[in-house]
Amino acid sequence: MDEFQSEIHEECGVFGVYSQENRKVAYTCYYGLYALQHRGQESAGIAVSYADKITYYKGMGLVPDVFSHGNLDKLPEGDIAIGHVRYSTTGASQLLNAQPVVFTGKCGKMALAHNGNLTNTRQLRDEMIKNNAVFQTTIDSEVMAVMINSLSDGDILEGVKKACPKFKGSYALVIMTTDKLIAVRDPHGIRPLCIGTDVDDYIVASETCALDAVGANYLRDVKPGEIVVIDSTGVHSYMMENLPKKSSMCIFEYVYFARHDSVLDGCSVYEARKEAGKLLARYYPVEADLVSGVPDSANVAARGYAEESGIPFVEALAKNRYVGRTFIQPDQRQRENSLNVKMNALRANIYGKRVIIIDDSIVRGTTMRKIVKMLRDAGAAEVHIRICSPIIKHPCHLGIDIQTYSQLIGAYKDEDQICESLGADSVRYLSIEQLVETCKSAKVDFCLGCFNGKYPYPLDGYEADKLKLE
Ligand code: AMP
Repeated sequence: MDEFQSEIHEECGVFGVYSQENRKVAYTCYYGLYALQHRGQESAGIAVSYADKITYYKGMGLVPDVFSHGNLDKLPEGDIAIGHVRYSTTGASQLLNAQPVVFTGKCGKMALAHNGNLTNTRQLRDEMIKNNAVFQTTIDSEVMAVMINSLSDGDILEGVKKACPKFKGSYALVIMTTDKLIAVRDPHGIRPLCIGTDVDDYIVASETCALDAVGANYLRDVKPGEIVVIDSTGVHSYMMENLPKKSSMCIFEYVYFARHDSVLDGCSVYEARKEAGKLLARYYPVEADLVSGVPDSANVAARGYAEESGIPFVEALAKNRYVGRTFIQPDQRQRENSLNVKMNALRANIYGKRVIIIDDSIVRGTTMRKIVKMLRDAGAAEVHIRICSPIIKHPCHLGIDIQTYSQLIGAYKDEDQICESLGADSVRYLSIEQLVETCKSAKVDFCLGCFNGKYPYPLDGYEADKLKLE
């Protein structure tokens, strides 16, 4: 893998606040990032704009750890702040790549935080280097910031308008100058972004759960291809040109990434997950004594399955609440070990029982294989797996960490082979149509690339690893 490929797989959370009254914008940002912690646990950062300055603090680790020991209090009071939580699983897990990206250019002081992934970082970067640009990091977000600045001629909005058509890939951006907060969502709307208000303040966040956390009311979602500028004159909206006919919001946000108390593009994540469980019960029933979810993300679906089937919801697994998301472990061995620490079977609940275990997705199969063994070791008579999404057959290059064909258990196996490989009694997945049905209240169309291989941008760079698919 080259430096770019090792950098591109990440999922993040962004937050921004424009304040007329409340000077403690760093605190608002802190609480907003805390609510978005599930989107990134590797690094966190906040930049604050006050007078003509921008001050920032970034660090490796969780939000409360980065901003402990008075680090939050060291940030000044101000009018605008943006923040970022980052999660990348491969390569340069280092402070240099933490966000927001902060620098001084034609637009004066500027900070940018990005959720998503560009697929043409290398080309853009090479082009700019030829024109004497210099870069400190390998992240696409710095490329975006530098390009916006260089095309701005001192007017940040012009810079954003001219730069966006050059970006290919997914981007939900919050950008701050010393007098403006700007929110941008890529033309396909791949990553979520919403706006809220709190008295005189405006908030921009990846998910509505962050608006709730800071007491803001949801105003609306940023539209695919929209640039929202918030300044002392109010909120201004500009649409990019030549927008695609259909949006391509990442459906995996509903399946796994987003918090279940968020509402993305008009669709409640909770409702979508519950419906997924119900559909699994309706279309893929099995006789069993109990149904359980892999905690936490699949519990809602398991309750949906229980409601629809009449089979009781019983907890089969206890989760250690102090262990973060499994994927965060950099290699497979550590990932497998961390599962033992993360979960344990509740023997008394499952001994001698036929268990239905629900999870949101299977990527490599590591989690499920381990869980099946755990349940059998604890005396489960049968283990039936039901998955709230279709088989993941393709990697994702737009911001979800599903990296290569060879890592995906579903890239070269069908349901029965997966069942055998996991050691289960049965495995059934939702179909693509059924998954889309769970999100029917969303006001957007979806990217289903990891399931059907059709992406809004070509899957460049994965060919070398590509196995022959059916
Ligand atoms: P795996 O163990 O590789 O099959 O991964 C599946 C588990 O990881 C499931 O329990 C999911 O909840 C979770 N998961 C699914 N997709 C992702 C992702 N893109 N990043 C991190 N975790 C994920």
